[in-house]
Amino acid sequence: MIAEIVSVGTEILMGNIVNTNATFLAEQCAALGISCFYQQVVGDNEDRLSEAFKTALGRSDIVIVSGGLGPTEDDLTKETAAKVCGKKLVTHEPSRKALIEYFNKRNIPFTDNNYKQADMPEDSIVIDNPNGTAPGVIIPYEDKRIILMPGPPGEMIPMFNDSIKPYLKKMSPVTIYSVTVKETGIGESCAEELIKDLIDTQTNPTIATYAKVGEVHLRVSAMAKNKKEAMKLISPVVKEIKKRFGKHVYTTDESVTLEEAIVKKLKKKEYTITFAESCTGGMLSSRLVNVPGVSDVYKSGYVTYANKAKRKILGVSKKTLKEYGAVSEECAYEMAFGAAKAADADVAIAITGIAGPDGGSDEKPVGTVYIGCCINGEATVSKYLFSGNRTKIRETTVATALRMIWSALA
Ligand code: ATP
Ligand code: MG
Repeated sequence: MIAEIVSVGTEILMGNIVNTNATFLAEQCAALGISCFYQQVVGDNEDRLSEAFKTALGRSDIVIVSGGLGPTEDDLTKETAAKVCGKKLVTHEPSRKALIEYFNKRNIPFTDNNYKQADMPEDSIVIDNPNGTAPGVIIPYEDKRIILMPGPPGEMIPMFNDSIKPYLKKMSPVTIYSVTVKETGIGESCAEELIKDLIDTQTNPTIATYAKVGEVHLRVSAMAKNKKEAMKLISPVVKEIKKRFGKHVYTTDESVTLEEAIVKKLKKKEYTITFAESCTGGMLSSRLVNVPGVSDVYKSGYVTYANKAKRKILGVSKKTLKEYGAVSEECAYEMAFGAAKAADADVAIAITGIAGPDGGSDEKPVGTVYIGCCINGEATVSKYLFSGNRTKIRETTVATALRMIWSALA
């Protein structure tokens, strides 16, 4: 079954709003096992809308449309779709009543053009919209369908989830299920190399790798008639991937982030953690504090930007700063020790580097970052040379620090 997404609205065409509806719908179709070969964006213009619908019906089984269902003059979607399908518009009594009730409840004056929202193409299925005034519609056309939904995501998404998704599920005999294996510590190309034989022979399930900053997600997807059947195909592949990646795998739960996995691991080990950040200025702290309940393991952290702060708060020696500089292995080492001591923590991460654009030298170019990791009194320091602008260098540093924490704990 082939679907086509048509996003209606001059605002989208002009780039005034981001087409998040199409992203959502495309993702949903993929998850339902419905192929989506084309998307269209069309303005609020009858001729071009009509052409868009005709083109879509010529090559797709289901045309999923969002936008242009409102009461105003420029909202033409329903009228045009009805015309293309050769259907008359007739008053849909339940919708007319619901509309009047909606306005009365909110004490909003009712104007004549509001009634047009209750006019529906004959022989169509009207979809309730509890979050707005324009109902959705499914218009049958030969053995195809045009599905119309309102444009505001706050109305479209619940309508899709509650009504359209179950409808599409019934039409499509297969569903796609996925499990995502998330790993950190092995880069994308090495990760692909590790499972090349699995990827090369894949048909059902398929494996796709997605590179994120500091981590790689491996998505295993199977097409089957239900979840149980799909999981039978997915499970052995996930097991094999986990075996090959070992401790680098931090979760197989799509919703779990690396920082969540780290907090969980720290709790299990009954460890506390602290950070001493220079060039990241608290970004690492902020990532960890994303996790609810982090206060069990994270009591305090330090942003020590100036040399004086590194000395006073972390006890970095004057000699180290003078001889090796603040961006040095020696300084990162002392910062990690000092932070662990100051916070009385089992684990401490120290970051010192040059995020640029200024401050680089031949010896220490922009992007030079030292990350120190102290666990139970033993510290190691790694040196990195990251590329990109200031933001990218700082983000990569944080991702790398998280990876180091995971590796040290796993
Ligand atoms: P309304 O009754 O609000 O007029 P409508 O169904 O006529 O609803 P539009 O007028 O096309 O929808 O769009 C209304 C608003 O919905 C837009 O201003 C925009 O904020 C949002 N919207 C519309 N289409 C999209 C889209 N494809 N992606 C994201 N947001 C959208
Ligand atoms: Mg509108």
